[in-house]
Amino acid sequence: MKALVYHGPRKVSVDNVADAAIQKPTDVVVKITSTNICGSDLHMYEGRTDFEEGRIFGHENVGEVVEVGDAVDKIQVGDMVSAPFNISCGHCRNCEHGLTNYCIRMQPVDGWAGAAYGFADMGPYAGGQAEFLRVPYADFNLLRLPEDAREKQDDYVMLSDIFPTGYHATEMADVQPGDSVVVYGSGPVGLMAAYSAIIKGAGKVMVVDRHPDRLRLAEQIGAIPIDDSKGSPVDAVLNETDGVGADKGCECVGYQAHDPNGNEDPAMTMNNLVNSVKFTGKIGCVGVFVPQDPGGPDQMAQQGKAAFDFGMFWFKGQQVGVGQAPIKRYNRQLRELIHLGKAKPSFIVSHDLTLDQGPDAYEHFDKREESWTKVVLHPNG
Ligand code: NAD
Ligand code: ZN
Repeated sequence: MKALVYHGPRKVSVDNVADAAIQKPTDVVVKITSTNICGSDLHMYEGRTDFEEGRIFGHENVGEVVEVGDAVDKIQVGDMVSAPFNISCGHCRNCEHGLTNYCIRMQPVDGWAGAAYGFADMGPYAGGQAEFLRVPYADFNLLRLPEDAREKQDDYVMLSDIFPTGYHATEMADVQPGDSVVVYGSGPVGLMAAYSAIIKGAGKVMVVDRHPDRLRLAEQIGAIPIDDSKGSPVDAVLNETDGVGADKGCECVGYQAHDPNGNEDPAMTMNNLVNSVKFTGKIGCVGVFVPQDPGGPDQMAQQGKAAFDFGMFWFKGQQVGVGQAPIKRYNRQLRELIHLGKAKPSFIVSHDLTLDQGPDAYEHFDKREESWTKVVLHPNG
């Protein structure tokens, strides 16, 4: 089959590789119809992690089931499905508590939890930027899609990661109707957090970034865009909130945050959040910060050490929730909103491309070029 393969920093190509196949009776094989490039792929693409050469990217996948293992009895050949990026067994201590983002059984590194398709340090599983994908524990992991699955593919493909992830940020921040909310980052994840806050009935939603095209999309869904290249975003949020600060905040940038001069400063967004969210306000942080890989030092982990102002955070009595999103917690409800026409997360899609156009798309998306907001690849046409 054809797949988008990593060959070292900023080197990817579409290669012929061995077909995805059933390895255990609980597996299925999915023919991928839509698969996104994610901001998280860029951490590996840029060579910040020890992603092994020869591995296949892609953890945001939708497709049609074409083969089922002998022990699969609910998912059937022909089903259109969304695959949450978290791969989970369904029955370990964490999965039984709904923490599918921290499945113990799927993660081979001692002391770590959580697995994903096509990810460094998250198990050996191949990604779905390919014609076919192997899905483990398919009855538990896969979400079946309704009859409009094909016509709304660009909406449903957001269910495997960024829509539930943005929603998770607002859940951790406890966004309630009428709340004022500031979102740092107007990338795909930040836009989904702002969109989720709006769906939940938030009052004023403010989105901070510096890319005009991304800020325009924030404005298009009814948020107030704040361009941090034009002045302090903290001052702008305080101005919008009578000097009190936003009720709630979402961090959707991660360790690659830029300071005002454009240099990377992993602590930048958490400090801005602490200063622009009110006393006792809550913050949800889904932007990625990473620990040291037990397999050895890695560059990303060094950059992931964010020395934010814990003293001010403490003084203001704020709360923060952090970490990977448990996609299965939200994807069923968000699927219904899409099906009923009440949510249309595809508003962020800038490019629908073939798999062969993938390597070129990585280059553009990695540079955060104007109008390259979200790329959906269609490996089977
Ligand atoms: P992205 O890189 O496309 O977007 C990040 C945006 O943040 C960019 O537009 C950038 O200009 C902006 N930014 C940089 N510094 C900033 C600052 N100081 N203030 C405000 N904005 C700033 O990435 P994305 O796909 O939107 O993902 C965002 C983060 O979410 C990444 O770290 C990604 O790995 C992470 N993520 C986490 C989960 C999860 O489960 N927790 C899931 C998916 C993605
Ligand atoms: Zn993703």
